[in-house]
Amino acid sequence: MLNTFKDKTGLTRNGFVTNYPSFRYWRKPMAEAGMAEKPLNIYVHIPFCTQRCGYCYYKTETLQQNSKSSIERYVDALCREIEIAAKHFHLGKRPVVTIYFGGGTPTVLTKDQLTAIMDTLRTHLTITDGLEFTCEGEPVTLSQRKADIIQAAGVNRISLGVQSFDDEIISIAGRRDTEADGVKAIEIAMNTGASVNIDLISGLAGETPEKWQHSVERAISTGVQSVTVYKLEIFANTPYYAQIGNKEIAIASDETELDYIRYASDAFRAAGYKPINFFTFTRGGGYEQEHTTNIWHGEDLYAFGTSAFGYLRDFGYQNTSAIPVYCDTVEAGELPIYRGYAYNSLDRLVREVMLGMKMMRLDLKRLQKRHGFNLLRLCGPTVERLVEQDLVTVSDEAITLTERGTLYGDSVGRALGAALEELQDDEVRPNPVLDVAEETAAEAALAS
Ligand code: SF4
Repeated sequence: MLNTFKDKTGLTRNGFVTNYPSFRYWRKPMAEAGMAEKPLNIYVHIPFCTQRCGYCYYKTETLQQNSKSSIERYVDALCREIEIAAKHFHLGKRPVVTIYFGGGTPTVLTKDQLTAIMDTLRTHLTITDGLEFTCEGEPVTLSQRKADIIQAAGVNRISLGVQSFDDEIISIAGRRDTEADGVKAIEIAMNTGASVNIDLISGLAGETPEKWQHSVERAISTGVQSVTVYKLEIFANTPYYAQIGNKEIAIASDETELDYIRYASDAFRAAGYKPINFFTFTRGGGYEQEHTTNIWHGEDLYAFGTSAFGYLRDFGYQNTSAIPVYCDTVEAGELPIYRGYAYNSLDRLVREVMLGMKMMRLDLKRLQKRHGFNLLRLCGPTVERLVEQDLVTVSDEAITLTERGTLYGDSVGRALGAALEELQDDEVRPNPVLDVAEETAAEAALAS
């Protein structure tokens, strides 16, 4: 090695930096992995429903508000957006690993409309048979004929928005279905051979401990692969909001709702359903939901349709939420994206920590491999506090939610995210984690 001149303080003018890290760390398999087409998850948004449910804050429209031709126009625009986006972002060769049709109620579409969307996806993207393909549906819309159509399209996971098995609660929510409709739709869905999920909401207007017990027990008795329990949250754009203001209805207090979720958690566990995230219980802890897991792990998601939002590497984007604007824009050959976000290194880390914590176990080794940081060193005091509060346990491998921790939703993820954001200079930019508590994904989808 050549002598390197250093002055008495140790400074030298030698050692010209050409690169980081040194080539001695570079490997052929890393080159191959870097050159390979990256997996892609697909979301398709159908913003139409049979009615407006009292608690729903999503950007949806009823079938009555839309003529047959305006729904046809939306489906045509959706197909055009798939074509435009696939070209613009070079999505064509990337292996699609999951597809999710959500809304709204995708099962309100006709056979021809669903086929047109699927044919367009297959024409412009790389879709292989057998990938996880989820379709959401409202029970009254899942007839045998509709189930046959989505089965033929390749759907192998059906998520039904049952919400409650009590007819009175369903009726107060402004829905047309009944317990019998819910049970029938579940049976039809299960007979397709798909993995079936049902959604329940804890704390709806009219809920009582007895009715909640009935809903939870009915859900278990169906034998579905998974049950997802969402906590009711009230937003200003919901019929519930006005009805609560007028004292027409009352909803459960947060304490009562906590009792409901405690009851459900115990009942599901006793029946052999284990939580795979803090709000989904699956039979035996199996039936992983690849779509959400992939996204929470930081994989790319391309989302088509009004108000849909997705992520491509360091770029987050959202489409316009107004159906006519969406159609006009796409028909003019342009992408309907109206806002976006450029993620910096810290954002990516915070996002993966917050979303990763939803899965109840944050894999510290995986995180370090992806981001280079030991999370425990970055936010040790916060982790200690969470341990003291009996919300998490910690090992060298993972931060894991305790049973108590699973009851408090995203609180742990938000606490870790906020601790990470404190690492940055407040002068540079605000701390978005603080806003996340107030602006849910749904609100983000609605704002324009
Ligand atoms: S809850 Fe489901 S079915 Fe009801 S309006 Fe919202 S998206 Fe539509």
